[in-house]
Amino acid sequence: MAKPLDGLVALVTGASRGIGKACAIALAEQGANVALCSRELKACEETAAAIRAEGGAASAFALDVTDDRQVEDCVALVAASFGPIDIVVNNAGIAFSAPLHRTSLAELRRVLEVNLVGAFAVIHAVLPSMLERRRGRVINIASTAGRAGYRYTTAYSASKHALVGLTRSLAHEVAPKGITVNAVCPGWTETEMLEASARKISEVTGRSREEAVAELAHMNAIGRLIRPEEVARAVAFLADPAAGGITGQLLNVDGGEILA
Ligand code: NAD
Repeated sequence: MAKPLDGLVALVTGASRGIGKACAIALAEQGANVALCSRELKACEETAAAIRAEGGAASAFALDVTDDRQVEDCVALVAASFGPIDIVVNNAGIAFSAPLHRTSLAELRRVLEVNLVGAFAVIHAVLPSMLERRRGRVINIASTAGRAGYRYTTAYSASKHALVGLTRSLAHEVAPKGITVNAVCPGWTETEMLEASARKISEVTGRSREEAVAELAHMNAIGRLIRPEEVARAVAFLADPAAGGITGQLLNVDGGEILA
């Protein structure tokens, strides 16, 4: 049976685990040929093999999004192996939490380097071929922290607000060229990033890991954590040719954390 993303090539960054891995699986289920790109090549290879075992198409590529040369080479290699990239999911990201006066400039720069400059670099490498072919989907994984302010997250929140600004401005720029640019904004999602945050809250406050997780889960209206597959569904929706009328938008997958 025909699938909506049949014949399309998708590149997902940070695909070794968590939301990125779920996005790769969801896009492959919809028929895309998926390039799973991450610093952790072995984990990407395992997921790619599992996708192929289910009849999908996927391959793994080593990529650190903060290495400009690696980004150029990876995009070129994916295109040479499978054809031009139709869908790019900028998911690679790191979290950082501390009061501003305990956040060093080096820590701020590192967060911006991965979450903002890394996404910019990947788009920079992929966009020329999308412009030439007058088609493409750029999907950036931002955050509720890209839409609102939260305590102890100035560096992370600044990086995600910047990614949202990039999303909106690029959407404007390339709209006449058949390319859509959108962001998905997850709330607290069950991944290693959440576990690391819960560990840090435990350390700082003396509360148990379970109490810390429950506190994070209750930041939204539905009172539970988001599942990576739920974020991935939103990504697959935006990647679908039927979503061609949607651009420059932020799609919250946050259980009603932000209701304004
Ligand atoms: P995670 O820590 O489980 O996974 C992050 C992925 O990014 C990993 O594959 C990691 O290897 C990769 N990565 C990190 N730095 C990289 C680099 N320099 N180059 C290439 N890959 C790199 O986290 P996650 O929760 O799956 O996060 C995925 C995205 O979702 C991130 O952008 C994150 O900011 C965003 N997000 C997560 C949550 C959450 O609660 N988990 C909420 C909102 C937004």
